Amino acid sequence: MKGFIGARQTTLASEVSLTGTGVHSGAPVSIVLCPADGDTGLRFLLSNGDAEGTEIAADPRSVTGVTLCTVLGDGNGASIATVEHLLAALSGLGVDNALIEIDSSEVPIMDGSASCFVEAIDEAGLAELDAPRRFLKVLKRIRVEDAGAYGELAPHNGFHLDVEIDFDTKLIGTQRIEIDVNPGSFRRELSRARTFGFMKDVERLWAAGLALGASLENTVAIGEDRIINREGLRFSDEFVRHKALDAVGDLALAGAPILGSFRSHRGGHRLNALVLKALFADADAWTMIEAPRYREVRHAELSHRLAAANFAPERS
Ligand SMILES: [Zn+2]
Repeated sequence: MKGFIGARQTTLASEVSLTGTGVHSGAPVSIVLCPADGDTGLRFLLSNGDAEGTEIAADPRSVTGVTLCTVLGDGNGASIATVEHLLAALSGLGVDNALIEIDSSEVPIMDGSASCFVEAIDEAGLAELDAPRRFLKVLKRIRVEDAGAYGELAPHNGFHLDVEIDFDTKLIGTQRIEIDVNPGSFRRELSRARTFGFMKDVERLWAAGLALGASLENTVAIGEDRIINREGLRFSDEFVRHKALDAVGDLALAGAPILGSFRSHRGGHRLNALVLKALFADADAWTMIEAPRYREVRHAELSHRLAAANFAPERS
């Protein structure tokens, strides 16, 4: 079943499990994606270790780390790293509510993209709930600049991304993607783009106890003058597509689908978090709106389909 963005909130129709490896810890991880009630949002539930039973909401206030990946914590030492690709899949496919049981402190990296999470969500299916869907509507431009990088959110009727990267290697160079994000475009254009890293950085990361689970199975590795992975790239501009995927995941922390346009230049997890923080710090910059109820739509019979199509461009 394909995801959809309709007037009512959704959750998963059934539980689904995945197992994999933490890219930073190298440790095995199991997660179970579970249905949740309306207005729950996306929440992690730690299912073993000292923090067993701890819940951590996917919320900007939970962000405790933005180096290499996005880390969420409860403020008491419990944390979950590398949440962005899973949150991107849930948010990208229009899943508003889910409980994510996890037996480790890091979401598994899978193939380095969101495609395994998309497959899992497809396997579980989506269910509509009674609760009306709420959207976070951006009311004015919010811009954050950070050492030659910038990110901004601006008013827009839909969710639009404009992401540009600029790396000083001709294997990447300058790449830009502009995309209206909905379940169909997310699935086709972004979900399969893998994370990437430079071979010259690997030893430094390993020395720091990071990237212990990184391999050619889950990372596009960039050498001096070539891509090390034998299979090559999935898209010629896979790098910027992955940055856009990361942005979808980081912006899922807003807690509701965004009606706004997000633009970033040389951005990353840190900048994405700073933009959301700046948005929420300015009460005039955003508001929550509910999706219109069908019966409130004028010319009910005819407009019903139009309204549904407007919210669900990829419904079929
Ligand atoms: Zn990523």
